[in-house]
Amino acid sequence: MKARKTLIAANWKMHKTVEEAVTFVKDLQERLPFREDRNVMIAPPFTALIAVRSAIRRNDIWLGAQNCHWEDKGPFTGEVSPLMLYDVGCQFAIIGHSERRHIFGETDEMVNRKVKAVLGKGLRPILCVGEKLEEREVGETFNVVSRQLKEGLKGVGRKEADRVVIAYEPVWAIGTGRTAKPYQAQEVHAFIRGMLSELYDNGLASSVQVLYGGSVKPDNVDELMAEPDIDGLLVGGASLEVDSFCRIVSYRV
Ligand code: PEP
Repeated sequence: MKARKTLIAANWKMHKTVEEAVTFVKDLQERLPFREDRNVMIAPPFTALIAVRSAIRRNDIWLGAQNCHWEDKGPFTGEVSPLMLYDVGCQFAIIGHSERRHIFGETDEMVNRKVKAVLGKGLRPILCVGEKLEEREVGETFNVVSRQLKEGLKGVGRKEADRVVIAYEPVWAIGTGRTAKPYQAQEVHAFIRGMLSELYDNGLASSVQVLYGGSVKPDNVDELMAEPDIDGLLVGGASLEVDSFCRIVSYRV
């Protein structure tokens, strides 16, 4: 049994109509055995949040959003607020995903505002951090992760930090089919835990879930989940099919 409860999160990105999303959730609930030691979170596109919320019948399956703004309301065309996510029953929001940072230009400061806004509405942020390939190649991995973590959690108190989930997602492994080797992921996860201990305390560092994301597939899930500091996964491509996602959630250690 892992030290912390496992969270396997599905990030569907810009995939699935409402009907496809609901069919997936119904199918998943029929096929997935209930396990005390693990929970699932599904982050569909905004358009399917309400329908997925209504389709969820199990208390081990949670709902999340893929992003949000930091304000509750206002003249921000195209944006969705944490209040709106709370209103439709989201329990989680993925914040600072590398696609948000690198395609849509989100800065550490924006990520930090979002983390605080989401916490303020009682949701749990999944704060994504991770280095680009060129940063890894010049030995910058720990500096980048450290900066993103410190900036992302700036002003987040000890009590609220308890509700934060961290996802280490090396950018070079997202959607590329190139997975970090388990020892490479473990090394960064242990580093993140050390930083949480510095920023807060040992108690918090040992309770916060740190997920790995980046080309997780049925054939690499077991070895990743065997690492002591990998408490779960953020899964993109392989979360789109029930077969592969079920296999991932049913990882064996
Ligand atoms: C992601 O989008 O967070 C992700 C890890 O994607 P993939 O699993 O497709 O690499």
